Amino acid sequence: ASTSFHRDTWVEVDLDHIAWNIAQIRKQLPEETSFIAVVKANAYGHGDVEVAATAMEAGASYLAVAFLDEALALRDKGITAPILVLGAARPEDAPLAAAQSITLTIFQKEWVEEARMHLHDKERLSVHVKVDTGMGRIGIRSSEELAEIEALLQSDDRWEWEGIYTHFATADEPDTSYFERQLGLFQEMLNGLTRQPKWIHCSNSAAALRFPKARFNAVRVGLSMYGIAPSSTVQQEAALPLKEAFSLRTKLIHVKKMPKGEKIGYGATYETQEEEWIGTLPIGYADGWIRRLQGQEVLVDGVRAPIVGRICMDQCMIRLPAQAAVGTTVTLIGHADTSFIPVDEIAGKLETIAYEVLCLIGSRVPRIYK
Ligand code: PLP
Repeated sequence: ASTSFHRDTWVEVDLDHIAWNIAQIRKQLPEETSFIAVVKANAYGHGDVEVAATAMEAGASYLAVAFLDEALALRDKGITAPILVLGAARPEDAPLAAAQSITLTIFQKEWVEEARMHLHDKERLSVHVKVDTGMGRIGIRSSEELAEIEALLQSDDRWEWEGIYTHFATADEPDTSYFERQLGLFQEMLNGLTRQPKWIHCSNSAAALRFPKARFNAVRVGLSMYGIAPSSTVQQEAALPLKEAFSLRTKLIHVKKMPKGEKIGYGATYETQEEEWIGTLPIGYADGWIRRLQGQEVLVDGVRAPIVGRICMDQCMIRLPAQAAVGTTVTLIGHADTSFIPVDEIAGKLETIAYEVLCLIGSRVPRIYK
């Protein structure tokens, strides 16, 4: 579903890899464990509707997003699958969610009391209750609170109480003690219920792959569906052959031989050390290719070349290993011939995590699909 664009920088998304990753992950799970595909933040930068459709085809049962707007965007683009909004929605938007068959997350009894004033008699809103077992983010923190919400939901048939869930803070770390504590608290909350809802889920990628006892009847998988392990611990323990789906590419738009002692870029911070071939790339910090990536290597014909000088808003310069033709494809993230720059290499350079790198690459960069 690529639309036309007129710049030589693009994200290539391999939907077959996403389908393949889902198949690999599902093979690790019991047949009865449902797969909730996490497609928030434009499917971690990969494109919401394309990934949502691919995930459903690959056997996902549910989609999850962060905000109601993301769910509405998917509905607008024709996605009819169940969608759970993981974050907070406004109580006054309850009827909108109900009308679009979008499931909301609830975690405060005041929200339920307010939202029900907005829901009309015949409207039915599906909800999952979020329990905070140790993230300190959103969620109910006591059995008493949960009992109050349970009573409210069961006293009014406009509520369809479909699920309950929590989220782990350390599921990707070697030390599992905090994870165990969270799981224990979640189990305690479940034990206190008079009736368990249909969907019980708490595992993100890391927990889904590492801890069978935390799977309940569904898992919420994001990062590993996109082909990236959440941490080296998960990578080692799960040992799944995932395939990254996200490649960032551009083309050389200018190539020149520069003599020794010439300066490059704002601040004139780089000086050619000898006669050097310098190439210009049409990508910059306005695309999320941020200034801290100065010095990072890119792939030109499969060979590594460093970014030299400061990265500009829309362009940056590289030192070429040899003369190269204008129009040559340059890979900033992904495979090129036998070379590979994984998302984690960029994350390492930026001292952050793969999640953030994927989200950084902005909407100005078109996504094309293989
Ligand atoms: N569930 C919730 C509530 C989340 O916030 C996220 C992502 O941050 C996920 C699941 C998916 O996590 P991951 O991408 O690590 O699989």
